[in-house]
Amino acid sequence: MRFRIINTIIILLLFAGLVLAFFELASFIYVLAFIVFYLLFLLTVSTNVRFNFFVKSFNENPGLNKKQVAITFDDGPVEITLEILKVLAKYKCRAGFFCIGKNIAAKPKIFKEIIKAGHLVGNHTYTHTRKMGALSVSRMIWEIQECNKIVEETAGIKMNLFRPPFGIVSPKTQKALQKTGLQSVGWSIRSFDAVLSSEEIILNRIKKRIKPGAVILLHDNNAKTVKILEQLLVFLEQNNYEVVRPDKLLKINAYS
Ligand SMILES: [Zn+2]
Repeated sequence: MRFRIINTIIILLLFAGLVLAFFELASFIYVLAFIVFYLLFLLTVSTNVRFNFFVKSFNENPGLNKKQVAITFDDGPVEITLEILKVLAKYKCRAGFFCIGKNIAAKPKIFKEIIKAGHLVGNHTYTHTRKMGALSVSRMIWEIQECNKIVEETAGIKMNLFRPPFGIVSPKTQKALQKTGLQSVGWSIRSFDAVLSSEEIILNRIKKRIKPGAVILLHDNNAKTVKILEQLLVFLEQNNYEVVRPDKLLKINAYS
């Protein structure tokens, strides 16, 4: 609501600026520069859940004085998820898996393996459509509810936590979360494991940003993430970091 008022005021001011520029009472360049700046600002806050602009999200535990971090995986469950589970079991770590509803429907056994191993599961929408930013509130609600529904049917649990696909958030996401009662969980370290090809660059990106309370984002539908994970867990062990489940690190409830 607050954003809608501010947004309307800014659009009206920009419109007034354009009118003044048209009558040569203001510099057209300045008005244009402000429009570009405002569009870039909107793009930044709507594609970065970390900024907590449209949605209040749990992205890290900044006040933590213990050397603890959480690791999260998005976009499963798929066959590679089983490899990820093996590595986590080898290092006795518990992580968080934000699963896509249609993948759960396709791989219910793998989904149950995640839960059986003691990891957290969260909602990552039903379809994970690339048009996420353009969805209506009612479609957003459907995406969240369908994902929770398949989890209730498959595993008998009611998930409380939601991770926005691509980190894209808007006032519509906020409304959908209010309606469904889920809480958003973001991240403080984006590995770009789904985008970058070099394992070394990805691993170094993460290592550089590690600090107590950090939440790391990885993808369990990516083959190279298996190797990156093992190297990351070795690094964390060497540096006396403990990997804890995201709900424990963030002090929130995963299920209701
Ligand atoms: Zn995703």
